[in-house]
Amino acid sequence: MKSIGKVIYCDNNATTQVAPEVFEAMKPFLTDLYGNPSSIHHFGGQVQREIDRARASVAGLLGASDTEIIFTSCGTESDNAAIFSALRVMEPRKKLLISKVEHPAVLNVGKELSRRGYEVVEIPVDGLGRIDMDFIAKNVDSNTALVSAMWANNEIGNIYPVEEICRIAHSRGALFHTDAVQVAGKIPIDLSKMPVDMLSMSGHKLHAPKGVGALYVRRGVRFKPFIIGGHQERGRRAGTENVASIVGFGRACELAAEKIGEERDKVARLRDRLERKLLASVECTRVNGDISSRLPNTSNISFEFVEGEAILLMLNQMGICASSGSACTSGSLEPSHVLRAIGVPYTAAHGSLRFSLSRYNSEEEMDFIAEKLPPIIKMLREISPYWRKKHDPIFRIRTCTAP
Ligand code: PLP
Repeated sequence: MKSIGKVIYCDNNATTQVAPEVFEAMKPFLTDLYGNPSSIHHFGGQVQREIDRARASVAGLLGASDTEIIFTSCGTESDNAAIFSALRVMEPRKKLLISKVEHPAVLNVGKELSRRGYEVVEIPVDGLGRIDMDFIAKNVDSNTALVSAMWANNEIGNIYPVEEICRIAHSRGALFHTDAVQVAGKIPIDLSKMPVDMLSMSGHKLHAPKGVGALYVRRGVRFKPFIIGGHQERGRRAGTENVASIVGFGRACELAAEKIGEERDKVARLRDRLERKLLASVECTRVNGDISSRLPNTSNISFEFVEGEAILLMLNQMGICASSGSACTSGSLEPSHVLRAIGVPYTAAHGSLRFSLSRYNSEEEMDFIAEKLPPIIKMLREISPYWRKKHDPIFRIRTCTAP
């Protein structure tokens, strides 16, 4: 496989580069140390000790204790495991509250559960993507098994008041789960001071490899396994462990914990620099989401009257990787469920781009994007009938008088 050369990678909410330190930590477990951690012999036992070390590192990043961490295969599995466990341990309660802006790993579980007869209530958000707390207070009741609300949104970066939501859930005896896939490693988390019952994480969002995740289950919260089989993970998640990735995940958590404040400030500065320059140089542009409470690395910007996909393709030719706010549904480009939930107008939702940064981005890269993007938008707007209808009086007269 050929490398595509130098890229400016600004799609870190999709996935991240494996940190070189993480790769180094993983190598022995892909070569010499291949023992099965469940084996009785020393060769396997030494691998088990490294898994335990990784577990302590993941727990350390969360302010949790080792026994509260279950390794899984990804964020999606962690979300599924949390929700299905909650419904079983909370029987006969049959109601679930989830926010409208959850990742499909939660949203589509909700859809499946409503098909199976559960009452699934979606919590609305306002125009800035802020969650409706009154709605939660009114709708959590004695039939509610679980409230699941993400800690931060992957598309617009909004950070949600999980502690407050958790308290409402607990006040009616319900459990609370949060999808913290986009939060872990980006902002500090201290679960020793928060009553969250379950929390999902994913390795590949914080410079560990793909194929490993974790579920935190607070000590004392009953848990029923999602994957049944052997005794691994103390009977809470069967299957021979993905050892190298678990070790890498642990190392990634150590790296994140060491520099969390410094990195948060660095990526926020880069993000703000890029946003400032783009907003100053491109008219009819808006930042989506709640800029007063947002992940430091995420910027979701709408460039009105252009197609996000077209912008992405042109950026791609310059080696710039970002993502758009549209998804291909049945052959047509639809604005994402998040942009629809916050009511971004159609003409703006279609032209939305997400830049999500990491510790590996630089000021030079932000300046390069800020230089290359405005002419792309200008060019695309010149061929956009919507833009011309709005801004070109001659075009407007011609199209309006046409039969
Ligand atoms: N939850 C959120 C908020 C995400 O952003 C993602 C991935 O983008 C997931 C869950 C799923 O994680 P994974 O890719 O590890 O299954």
